[in-house]
Amino acid sequence: MNSQSLFKQHFNYSAVSSSEAHGRVNLIGEHTDYNKGFVLPTLIEQKIEVSLSPRLDSKIVGISEEFGEKTVLSDSNTDGTWIDFVRGALYYMAKEGQLIKGLNIAVVSSIPTGSGLSSSAALEIAILRALCQMVGHELSSTKIAKIGQLIEHHFIGTFCGIMDQMSSSKSKFGQVLFLDCENLNTEIVPIFEDYTFIIIHSGSTRKLSEGLYNERKRETEIASKSLNISSLRHAEISDLNIIKDPKIFRRARHVITENVRVLKAVQFLKDNNAQAFGNLMNESHISMDKDYEISSPELNHIVKTAQSNGALGARLTGAGFGGCTVVLSSNTRRDDIIKKILEHCPKSYLVTNIGQNIAPSKNE
Ligand code: ADP
Ligand code: MG
Repeated sequence: MNSQSLFKQHFNYSAVSSSEAHGRVNLIGEHTDYNKGFVLPTLIEQKIEVSLSPRLDSKIVGISEEFGEKTVLSDSNTDGTWIDFVRGALYYMAKEGQLIKGLNIAVVSSIPTGSGLSSSAALEIAILRALCQMVGHELSSTKIAKIGQLIEHHFIGTFCGIMDQMSSSKSKFGQVLFLDCENLNTEIVPIFEDYTFIIIHSGSTRKLSEGLYNERKRETEIASKSLNISSLRHAEISDLNIIKDPKIFRRARHVITENVRVLKAVQFLKDNNAQAFGNLMNESHISMDKDYEISSPELNHIVKTAQSNGALGARLTGAGFGGCTVVLSSNTRRDDIIKKILEHCPKSYLVTNIGQNIAPSKNE
């Protein structure tokens, strides 16, 4: 079902405005965005669609195919449910001079949630796009991304960087977005020709607002404070000797080495050097497992299985603590690698394949 049909079914009339936004997979550059570093995401075919109409009273009435019904007063306090995303969007639209009293909204999604594919950012961007369309207000894609991040910080409680929102708001299909999270400069890099990025879900999920993500962010803030710099973006490995706490040292080492890996990965992408790109993915996974401690036995098992069955590289993707892996394979090895992973990792499933000339793998 699409969001218009869900809206009509639930509210008994047609929505005035509809929009959508895609999820993303980050190819490399994890937990670097809130440290003002580099990331390399690309869109996935899975997306969130919203349809909405204004109300005359000051209620928000929401229906999400996945998260159910919810009715609240638009100026009431956050309650930890998905309707907080709508509350936040209305709050920031009002700051833009667009006061929207109440809203009926229907949400339909094909993005697995809590899986590192950024359903939350897609939801923010889709709602903001639909609201702008509804009231005839123009916002740039960067401004929409920034508002999405503010919603996440102040209405959800996840102190995320800007990658997910920028990716969902700015990227186009088949493009890789090289994003500098300090100045928001972007460069579009084409994806490999004869290789596929395979996205495999580990079968376990997590909720970012539950705290582990924010804990990692605090740890890196402690590291940059000890080094007397504004963010780890400006640190080098040789600076780390003065950090005495071994855990903080390891967290900082991940961020610093990961930034270097992203810069190399961009070059390897441009050079069509998938082998070297894959090696960086493998190194990135080790760093996330050992230094940043955001992997899980299931994620490690998928990564190992991929590597021992001919993948060029494999790593967890997204915030970690469950969720998805991204595996790089030649187009010829792809189907066999997928088969081996699904056979050996019982809870895992294929989310999508990304590459040039690849037909969508998911039935929508
Ligand atoms: P991720 O962004 O990696 O998927 P998060 O923990 O950041 O994971 O966000 C997941 C949250 O986003 C969900 O708990 C829910 O509040 C919201 N969300 C995602 N998809 C939907 C949907 N289809 N309907 C309503 N809320 C959604
Ligand atoms: Mg999220």
